[in-house]
Amino acid sequence: MSKLELRNLNKTYTSKIIPVKDVSLMVDDNEFLTLLGPSGCGKSTTLRMIAGLEEPTRGKVILGGEDITFKRPGDRNMAMVFQSYALYPHMTVHENLSSGLKLKKVPRAEIQQRVANVVELLGLKELLHRKPGQLSGGQRQRVAVGRALVRRAEVYLLDEPLSNLDALLRERVRADLKQIFAREKAPVVYVTHDQTEAMTLSSKVAILNNGYIQQLDPPERIYNHPANLFVAGFVGSPQMNLLNLPCKGRSAMLGDFQIQLPDIPTVPSEIVLGIRPENVRLVTSDDDKQIIQGKVFLVENLGMHNLVSIHVKSSHSPALTIRALLPTDQSWDSKEIKLVLPPQNIHWFDVESGDILR
Ligand code: ADP
Ligand code: MG
Repeated sequence: MSKLELRNLNKTYTSKIIPVKDVSLMVDDNEFLTLLGPSGCGKSTTLRMIAGLEEPTRGKVILGGEDITFKRPGDRNMAMVFQSYALYPHMTVHENLSSGLKLKKVPRAEIQQRVANVVELLGLKELLHRKPGQLSGGQRQRVAVGRALVRRAEVYLLDEPLSNLDALLRERVRADLKQIFAREKAPVVYVTHDQTEAMTLSSKVAILNNGYIQQLDPPERIYNHPANLFVAGFVGSPQMNLLNLPCKGRSAMLGDFQIQLPDIPTVPSEIVLGIRPENVRLVTSDDDKQIIQGKVFLVENLGMHNLVSIHVKSSHSPALTIRALLPTDQSWDSKEIKLVLPPQNIHWFDVESGDILR
């Protein structure tokens, strides 16, 4: 039995607005689960139902074996960090950190102790007497996290806590969060639309789209074995090449080139081929198979690599585009090049359902 469990959770606002559909998942102590998906896919609504700020239309929230679906938020020992930080503007940092504990009538000595621990952990010492208006975005963020941590909650819930920070600071605070929550035993549920945050922080990622969980797996598995087209296209930057190709015999036709199909019972008339730009490589030996040829029409310098867009040679159909990450030590502009699509790196998807084909 897991610490926190969502069983077939649904939320219906109106017949047209059903942001959460049949969401089931489990998060254990020591686990960091991220709800990842585009804006409007139901992440915050799911989190708010865990916190008790929103009542589910159907389904259950279970904590430590107890059904808490309709328990008041104040009676659940959960700490939430909001995107807006939600600090009290008229209170100092110290008061922001301690006020929740005072309300709960925690003994004074213990409040002092807990606040001191968090202040130390988050490096807030110099800021204790300032008010939120006198803090930078990153500092406010740390105070908001600190306020959740002093609670010593049974579950931590974070809703896009880094989205108000600029890119550099976000990277730093992300690393801080990872270290901080690695020490907490309690389950963490983290909401973001940022795939990098999801991949770097989480032990498990639930990808949501349109209210449904698309895939629930560790980050490596999400990246290397996407369950469907949505996940394949959403995770990974630069994005995976996804090409709709006609099939002929046991091959898919990529322009003038044949790509061998996997072992599937019936060959469809069309199929989607997926391959990540970093897996498309230059021809290096005579033994290379699944070679395609084409002409470079765009080079984008990403610093470490060039993202090179190629029109694949095709005598019949309009040219298809494939993108590859290639070394920066050569000029690729307008070149004719040969590339290999290694079979082990190709993902095949059903055209209709978008599901991965085995
Ligand atoms: P996310 O956090 O993934 O961006 P939300 O869970 O906030 O998405 O919202 C999901 C959908 O539910 C959105 O279409 C949003 O407009 C709708 N929604 C959220 N709260 C309400 C509400 N109180 N009443 C009606 N619709 C809502
Ligand atoms: Mg949201």
